[in-house]
Amino acid sequence: MSSVDFASLGISAPVLKAVQQLGYEQPSPVQEASIPILLEGKNLLGTAQTGTGKTAAFALPFLSMLDEKQKSPQILVLTPTRELAIQVAEAFQSYAKHIKGFHVLPIYGGADIGGQLRGLKRGAQVVVGTPGRMLDHLRRRSLDLSHIKGLILDEADEMLRMGFIDDVETILAKTPADCQRALFSATMPPAIKRVADKYLGDAEVVSIQNKTKTVERIAQSHLMVKGHQKMDALTRILDVEQFDGMIIFVRTKSSTLEIAEKLEARGFSSAALNGDLTQTLRERTINRLKKGQLDIVVATDVAARGLDVERISHVINYDVPYDNESYVHRIGRTGRAGREGKAIMFVTQKEIRMLRSIEKSTRQPITSFNLPSNEEVSGQRITQFKEQLVGMCKSTKLDKFHSLVKEVAAENEIDMVLLAAALAFEAQKERPLFPKMVTIDTPRASASDRSERKPRERNERPGRNERNERPDRSDRSQRPDRAPKPSRDKGPTVDGEGNEVAMITYRIEVGRNDDVSPKNIVGAIANEAEIDAQFIGHIKLHDDYSTVDLPEGMPKELFDHLYKVRVCQKPLKISVDNGTAGEQRDAKPYGGKRDKPSFNKEKPAFKGKPKAHRGSDSAARKPSKRPATDRR
Ligand code: AMP
Repeated sequence: MSSVDFASLGISAPVLKAVQQLGYEQPSPVQEASIPILLEGKNLLGTAQTGTGKTAAFALPFLSMLDEKQKSPQILVLTPTRELAIQVAEAFQSYAKHIKGFHVLPIYGGADIGGQLRGLKRGAQVVVGTPGRMLDHLRRRSLDLSHIKGLILDEADEMLRMGFIDDVETILAKTPADCQRALFSATMPPAIKRVADKYLGDAEVVSIQNKTKTVERIAQSHLMVKGHQKMDALTRILDVEQFDGMIIFVRTKSSTLEIAEKLEARGFSSAALNGDLTQTLRERTINRLKKGQLDIVVATDVAARGLDVERISHVINYDVPYDNESYVHRIGRTGRAGREGKAIMFVTQKEIRMLRSIEKSTRQPITSFNLPSNEEVSGQRITQFKEQLVGMCKSTKLDKFHSLVKEVAAENEIDMVLLAAALAFEAQKERPLFPKMVTIDTPRASASDRSERKPRERNERPGRNERNERPDRSDRSQRPDRAPKPSRDKGPTVDGEGNEVAMITYRIEVGRNDDVSPKNIVGAIANEAEIDAQFIGHIKLHDDYSTVDLPEGMPKELFDHLYKVRVCQKPLKISVDNGTAGEQRDAKPYGGKRDKPSFNKEKPAFKGKPKAHRGSDSAARKPSKRPATDRR
């Protein structure tokens, strides 16, 4: 972490106020490097992935330079997916909280265009969207790029991988020549470099390189977990892990307080440690931890700097660190004075790259942590409860209570064991011995995520750009560089680990006459059904319908959801294509009960439940609800 603070980076007063209210203590390395460059009006080429704080790295400076009076779009952000568009729009909204009359609009395919048209008409200074839908708006002349002052390409390598790079170039070419540009990408494949050379000129380069550092004596593991289930996962770990002292690292001051409070409420002795504490209070907290008066400290990087407490047996990275330096520093708080230590890092799906890059730079695997099951938690609590009871029987003076219990038993003719059971029931209410726990979804980061996915560099084909040819988009399986091969007739689709994925051909009721492109179809299905684009197979366009190969075993709820999803303003009305796929005539459209899953469970094609359909931009802007985490 840097020693620079946000105020000295030169961001505007309202933006600084919002950042402070969000509880950000210090800029992350990518923010420290990028913000001054962008504030100077220079173009920027940044190598940074999700989890490094890259969104604020571009949002804060561009918002600081915003012309509040200009209502037409000034800042344009291109993102590969609808999720990222929403996330980035929400981030802009939160950083612009104190800018009067500020509007940000996310626009993406698969959603009702009417709301987006109204939003654009009303005026939005920042537009964040996926390339396909942006082009759509440009064609309709509903999006005016003539006053764009700042353009950001976010996750450029993902846009390349998803086949959007031509659209990105078309949009780039339509922005004013003098507009300031920033490109962020986790990797820099040649096609991205070429776009950068062409449109960013001699941009300043920011690269958050992870230097190699080694860590010994610390058992490192990670847990794939959804953001809203982190608290449940944490409490389950605390229940079962035998720990002495623990540090839980989070990103913001507000999170230190929130988590420490929640842990206290769950009966763990914990306290927050953040940069707002006075030196005296900070020292007092650390001393309490040293003396064992406190077991858990929830800290930000800044506050835990240099912390040296021997009894820290565990470090939990509740939020991923910004970079390897920070990771090594964090986990180095355990394993002090030659002791063994344990470090567990929570990783969300979007942060897998971060995990892999830390592994790469520390040259050590961060193994997968097995989250304790309900039975394990229950078993552990019962063991502790028994020990506590036996201990009390041995060490506590119970004479008066002994007589009392005897009296109750005699007066009511109750069996002593039954009476003891009633007391046990009463005693465990705060910390149930047989807890009903929420299901925590912990997908594994598959082995195929270890290597950087090879981008589908369609533009890499020699000479195609010069000849200004468009690839034949009507047949995705024709792409020479597409892996894995999706179509049945071109051989089986395989997942990242080489397991065969059986496919079914579906029919959807949009076709060439609706101006649909395979990319629209891939985008809608990938986003709406949360199917990784690699599992979307052969697409064939006909005049008034299309066919698409999807993995066998689609859950019914997803099927029902996809039926209603709209592409090019028409519902897909998905059905099994009996006409063109004779051999699959009897296939079930969706997965019923199957003995054998047809796809690799470690990397399932269908990841989750269908998304709630966001029909209008206003709905899309709402922050997602966090389900209650409190079990008790
Ligand atoms: P990103 O890499 O842009 O996806 O950001 C990941 C997360 O880090 C988001 O939840 C941000 O709110 C958070 N974040 C970004 N910058 C900071 C900062 N300087 N301090 C604390 N949290 C931050």
